[in-house]
Amino acid sequence: MEHRIADSLKILTEADKEACETVRVSENEPLSGKKRLFIESYGCQMNFSDSEIVASVMRDAGFATTSDVNNADLIFLNTCAIRDNAEQKVRNRLKQLNFIKKNKPGMLIGVLGCMAERLKTKFLEEEKMVDIVTGPDAYRDLPRLVDEAETGQKGVNVFLSREETYADISPIRLNSNGVTAFISIMRGCDNMCSFCVVPFTRGRERSRDPYSIVKEAEDLFRDGYREVTLLGQNVDSYKWKAEVNEGVEVANDTVVNFANLLEMVAKVSPELRIRFSTSHPKDITDEVLYTMKKYDNICKYIHLPAQSGNTRVLEIMNRTYTREWYMGRIDAIRRILGDECGISQDMIAGFCTETEQEHQDSLSLLTYANFDFGYMFAYSERPGTLAAKKYKDDIPEDVKKRRLAEIIEVQRGISLERNQRLLGTVQKVLIEGPSKKSEDDLCGRNDQNKMVVFPRENFEKGQYVNVLITECTAATLLGRVLQPEPV
Ligand code: SAM
Ligand code: SF4
Repeated sequence: MEHRIADSLKILTEADKEACETVRVSENEPLSGKKRLFIESYGCQMNFSDSEIVASVMRDAGFATTSDVNNADLIFLNTCAIRDNAEQKVRNRLKQLNFIKKNKPGMLIGVLGCMAERLKTKFLEEEKMVDIVTGPDAYRDLPRLVDEAETGQKGVNVFLSREETYADISPIRLNSNGVTAFISIMRGCDNMCSFCVVPFTRGRERSRDPYSIVKEAEDLFRDGYREVTLLGQNVDSYKWKAEVNEGVEVANDTVVNFANLLEMVAKVSPELRIRFSTSHPKDITDEVLYTMKKYDNICKYIHLPAQSGNTRVLEIMNRTYTREWYMGRIDAIRRILGDECGISQDMIAGFCTETEQEHQDSLSLLTYANFDFGYMFAYSERPGTLAAKKYKDDIPEDVKKRRLAEIIEVQRGISLERNQRLLGTVQKVLIEGPSKKSEDDLCGRNDQNKMVVFPRENFEKGQYVNVLITECTAATLLGRVLQPEPV
């Protein structure tokens, strides 16, 4: 077996960095006689998933998607408001789109998602070329808003719902590799972390009917998909209760929690891999961990954002757990699922009043938990949040940047070490398609969500293969297929 590590280790490639700030663009649908819709989605997986619901709603209103912005009758930007730079990106994009619109006056521009919800009609005052502003719970209303905008009025709906889950809408898969797909299982968030804008832009937490989730997973499996990621801001607080509907009880006292839901989806087929994101450390239960252990097709990977490694900072962040609690959850994962379970983190550098010692606590938490990778950010104050109202954003930008660089550096070392442990092992990989760098290579993920790249040979996407890992960087494993995995 080979145990060679690449001489020069490329640790955080541009592609890895981009992965945190991805923009996705709709594809050309081969449908004629339809008006053309271009959707550009910013931010998190939830937004990408929402754009697929939007495409479905607009298909029924006579639109097919396009990948060419110049060819579009209607442009939607599905926006993110989580940090200031995410919003600046959208503002810059709108400036570019304004040029296109000047030569094509009939073209309409809509801003959807979290930034639309945060700014509401203020958006129309600030960005005059925008015709439609729609919040995350109002996508069913888009056809009406577009009709309104076509008559020269502005179309606005930023109503936040307590019920909307779009459970009955079949998403149109955008940018799909035909192998992996997202399924939204809940919307909104009730947590009120003090730094976070999400509770204000996505409203109250609500869980989607589990039977509609299972049906979506079954449909995807039938269509050739082999992996689904169950999405929510806080999946572990998923809770669905059968309700009395027009006097008819759907099911007696049925309560489905996240562990139950995981099990229901895992049973769709042993060939369908299940992932989920995001877990909140206060809510992830041993029941969930044991359910993961019970089913081979539930991937042994958990994204468990920490945000800080210091209890005082966690308290003013309103995360409702301590450093020790977080460590206890890591211990439980290692105890129940073993050391090989993949764990990733989110960490914020330079939150209000954070001292150097408290920052050191974040660094030492990284070492304690041995995370496989992480998404790390400098604190960005968001207007209207609890932190913006209560605490001064008092850590100078250069200090935030330095602390962030230190966090990234420590995580990079741990990621590399975790990947090096896999040299010489055989990993089961679901092939997602060609690798980004070469058509001669294929790529896919192992159970722990690590990207694995290997020579194409005669293998095809959608296949499970056993890959012998021969090289690695901090971000990627490289190897060659031993033999296709019998399924
Ligand atoms: N619901 C998930 C959770 O609680 O872990 C996270 C959702 S949020 C869309 C993704 C990440 O963005 C957070 O985990 C946090 O690290 C980061 N984030 C949120 N607000 C931020 C802010 N004001 N400044 C910097 N990073 C922020
Ligand atoms: Fe934001 Fe906290 Fe909700 Fe995550 S759990 S979306 S960080 S408020």
